[in-house]
Amino acid sequence: MTRYRLILMSFITLVATALLVFTGCEPKENNNGGGGTEFEELVIPNINRDSVYEFVKKQVDFGPRVPGSQAHKNCSEWFEKKFNSYGAKVTMQRFEANFHFGAKADAVNVIASFNPEKKRRVLLCAHWDSRHVADQDTDRKDEAIDGADDGGSGVAVLIEIARLIKENPIDLGVDIVLFDAEDQGDSEGEGNTTNTWCLGSQHWSKNPHVPGYRAKYGILLDMVGTANARFTKEQTSMRYAPTLMNKTWKLAADLGYSNYFVDVPTGPITDDHTFVNQIAKIPTIDIINRQPNTGFGEYWHTHDDNIEIIDKSALSATGNVVLAVIYNESAFQF
Ligand SMILES: [Zn+2]
Repeated sequence: MTRYRLILMSFITLVATALLVFTGCEPKENNNGGGGTEFEELVIPNINRDSVYEFVKKQVDFGPRVPGSQAHKNCSEWFEKKFNSYGAKVTMQRFEANFHFGAKADAVNVIASFNPEKKRRVLLCAHWDSRHVADQDTDRKDEAIDGADDGGSGVAVLIEIARLIKENPIDLGVDIVLFDAEDQGDSEGEGNTTNTWCLGSQHWSKNPHVPGYRAKYGILLDMVGTANARFTKEQTSMRYAPTLMNKTWKLAADLGYSNYFVDVPTGPITDDHTFVNQIAKIPTIDIINRQPNTGFGEYWHTHDDNIEIIDKSALSATGNVVLAVIYNESAFQF
C-alpha cells in the first residue's frame, strides 16, 4: 500500500501545503461544520509483482493473439471472464478488421467499466493483439510474435489494476479499454499508417461503447514491461495532453520512478492515443518505452519480444503510477 495521510487543519496549512505539493493535488472541499480536526486518508493500493507478471504469462501462453486465430479468441474469452470476476461491467465490442494484406478478421475491443453510473470518468487503455509477423527480425520474419511486451505488458497492468479496484473500491468511473487490431499494420507502407494500424482504437473512437461517452482524460500503456524501459515524453501526448503528461511524470518522480519516467521529449508517434485524442477528443497520453536516442527497444517486432524480457519491477512501476493517478483523481482532482 502507498498511504498518504492528509491532515487538514486550518492552523497547519503549511504542512497540508507540503503534502499537497507531494501529491500534486488539491483537496476536496471538506467542511464538517464543527471546526474540529479533520482527517482524510487516501489509500492507494500497490501492484502485486507476481500477479501482474502472471497476467503477462497467461496471455503469452495462449499463443500470439493475432485476430482470426484460436489463441486470439481464447484470450478474449479469458479477458471477459476475468473482468467479470472483478465486478466490472464488460462490453465486448465486436467489429470486422480489414487488413492491408487482404485479410479480414473478427476483432473485438474489450471494455471493462467500473462505476458505470458515474459522470466523472477516466479512460485506461492498451492494445491486446500481438503482431502477425516479426518484420524487424532476421529470422522467421513471417511468423507471429509472442508480444509479451508489445501488447501483453500494458494489458497485464490494466488487469491487475482491475483486480485492485475490486479490492479497494474507487470513487470514480474507470473504463479499461483493450483495443484490438493495433499491431497488424503495414510497415512497408508509404506513410499511410492510419489505414492499417490502430484499427480497434479508430473503431472505438468513432463508435464509443456508450453514446456520447466522455472521460476527463486517458492513459495508454504500450510496451511497459522491460527492465530497460524508458518512458520519454512522446510528443503526440504532449500536443494533446501536456498537463496530464507533466503531472504524471512529476508524480512518478515523487514515487521514486524517474528511472523509468524520463523527463526527455521524443518525437510524435501514431499509436492508439492518436485516435482517442483526434476522434474521441479525450486528452490522452501514451506511456511507452521509447528510448531517447534509439527509439523502441531492440526486441520490438521480433521474436525476442517474449516472456524472457518481462521485468516485474517495470510492470509494477508503471502500474503504481497509474494507480496513484486514478486514486488521487478519485479523492481530489488530479
Ligand atoms: Zn507493436
